[in-house]
Amino acid sequence: MPEKVLIENRKIDELLEQLISNCNFNSSEKDVKLIRKAFNMANDAHSGMRRKSGDPYIIHPLNVALIVCEEIGLGLTSTVCAILHDVVEDTDLTIEDIENAFGKKIASIVDGLTKISGVFDKESNSLQAENFRKMLLTLSDDVRVIFIKLADRLHNMRTLDSLPRNTQIKIAGETIYLYAPLAHRLGLYTIKSELEDLSLKYRYPEVYHEIAEKIKLTEERRLHVINHFSLPIIDALDKNGFDFHISGRPKSIYSIWQKMHQKNVTFEEIYDLFAIRIVFNPKPGIPEKTQCWNIYSIITDIYAPKPERIRDWVSTPKANGYEALHTTVMGPKGKWMEVQIRSKRMDEIAERGFAAHWHYKDKSSQASELDKWIKRIRETLESPTADAMEFLDDFKLNLFSSEILVFTPKGQIITLPKDATALDFAYDIHTEIGNKAIGAKVNHRLVPLSHILSSGDQVEILTSDVQKPTLEWYHFVTTVKAKSAIKNALKAETKNRTEVGKNLLIEKLKEINLTPSSRILKKLIPAYDTAHKDELYSKIGSGIVSLDNLKDILSKNTKSKWVRVWGLSVGRSQKKPEKKETYDSSGTLILRETMEDEERNYTLAKCCNPIPGDEVVAVRQGDGPLMVHRTDCKVALKIMSSQGDRLVAAKWTQHKVLSYLARIHLNGWDRFGVYNAITNTITKELNISMRTINLHGHDGIFDGTIDLYVHNTTDLNNLILNLMKLKGVEAVHRVEAME
Ligand code: MN
Repeated sequence: MPEKVLIENRKIDELLEQLISNCNFNSSEKDVKLIRKAFNMANDAHSGMRRKSGDPYIIHPLNVALIVCEEIGLGLTSTVCAILHDVVEDTDLTIEDIENAFGKKIASIVDGLTKISGVFDKESNSLQAENFRKMLLTLSDDVRVIFIKLADRLHNMRTLDSLPRNTQIKIAGETIYLYAPLAHRLGLYTIKSELEDLSLKYRYPEVYHEIAEKIKLTEERRLHVINHFSLPIIDALDKNGFDFHISGRPKSIYSIWQKMHQKNVTFEEIYDLFAIRIVFNPKPGIPEKTQCWNIYSIITDIYAPKPERIRDWVSTPKANGYEALHTTVMGPKGKWMEVQIRSKRMDEIAERGFAAHWHYKDKSSQASELDKWIKRIRETLESPTADAMEFLDDFKLNLFSSEILVFTPKGQIITLPKDATALDFAYDIHTEIGNKAIGAKVNHRLVPLSHILSSGDQVEILTSDVQKPTLEWYHFVTTVKAKSAIKNALKAETKNRTEVGKNLLIEKLKEINLTPSSRILKKLIPAYDTAHKDELYSKIGSGIVSLDNLKDILSKNTKSKWVRVWGLSVGRSQKKPEKKETYDSSGTLILRETMEDEERNYTLAKCCNPIPGDEVVAVRQGDGPLMVHRTDCKVALKIMSSQGDRLVAAKWTQHKVLSYLARIHLNGWDRFGVYNAITNTITKELNISMRTINLHGHDGIFDGTIDLYVHNTTDLNNLILNLMKLKGVEAVHRVEAME
């Protein structure tokens, strides 16, 4: 045998021995046998094949298996699958061969790996996206497929040197675009960091080497700073009997580059940015959480903490499983330093993510976060968005976003991406709740649906059966689930409206003994100011076009007449128990603000809907309560002029404790964002609660009413003035009759 082959064989044997001796499975006779069996099968199948580097091919699957068990921390099954991951794709062996030799489970994982291999090797974008989707779908089969795929990619990145430059750039690009975020999302922090660094190395070699060099040069100074900062802490923790390790790692090359890039700063301005990490061996009998806070307290006795910079991922772990207590303190030279406090167990999870969870027997609570994430991915994948590129963008967004945790009124935790709005929350609870949402209460305050949530918010969604999703909604949701639900609802809505409108027209025509024909449509389309028949149907369906004057239009083009009908309803009557009326010294009725109807000694007239601050007059009506009208109300005016003896002077007590329902009418230009600006002005700037919103846009104009609760006329006038200032709002005025 030539010497080269001997050396290679020795290298292969070494790798195999390392795999057998260093891994997590218990190295029982049986386990070792299985590993050897997998190795023999792969080695035979790949024999004669070489990688671009010239290495025998089997070096690659062995290294992937090492990453899988040593660096990710997976067990025997995954290790065997990693050894076999390329055989079906690249050799004559089939899935049946694998199944016969190793059983169903291993065969199905290898099958998953085979199906997604070459995911990114296609030229067309949409194929890539479609394949990526396929890859993620395997998540629902067995998440180990993704872990092994990441290990495969990591080893390929580590050996990228031997590939041609253009392939390097392509693979490095995919890595930073999809694999690194995916690793992050699975909590594989160390692997994510390495993927990012390697990707940078091949995309921007000069930058990479320059930063790497500078990190080396500044090492000594960094160590000095760390020691200076750590010594008092080490002393104090020792005194308190903690078994711990303290370290300060510089940021990764990639994150330094990113910071230089984003903040436009030099290496020298940020090179000493790093976090001090304290990893402790928990004392027995005391909860880890308590010990984290004990250490926190010891540190902040030495260095002053920065207010509001505590990150408590001990009480509520991040969605990717991360647990730790972070704080930022003022170091000896007046420099802020981040300190991360973790137990050994937390540290392992932080470095190796969910795979590490599986080492700790208490799976029940920990696995569930992963389960939840996989469930969300599955929902995303199953949503019929169809457009693969769009899906990829949305999905990538979700991968990159860091997360917030919010609570339902019952205290259930919901994880959402950063910048998610109340509407995202509604859709996360249930599609129907999203579709019917009209507003939300965040921490008991009413907010519009576009309100951006923050971690810790308690969110309650207000719904209405008459609510329907609008195109505007699409622009203020971030989750894939909400986006596709809105899209679907809008599609269904348009289709539905067109259908309804068409049927309505057929019916109306029938009444005058006509059937729809192109002659009739030709007359109707311009008469109703529409461009084509679908628009006509849609406008009929949504009530924008009424068919009252259908006959006139068809016989002759008489102009339509708009008759305004005022429905006046007389105030609620009458046979209520007698209530005590209060008068001041001049005999004026005092209108008390009261919550209970029973206590109220008056009724508010529906025809003019008075609110505190309005000039009012009360009208005696038999035995019933006094009816309160605005003095400028037409009904009241009539009574004043004819039955003056029934009038009683009245005025409000104003405590601003109660809110009164008022209605405003608005119209203007239906420009993008105008609805949101209106609701924002009402709820955010003026802190006024809305009851119903009834705005419709058509032909670039919007029109409608909003019912809201105000304390008095001052509030209402302010609101109207503020709304008038909004771009696109043409006119705002108070509506007198509410019904
Ligand atoms: Mn491979």
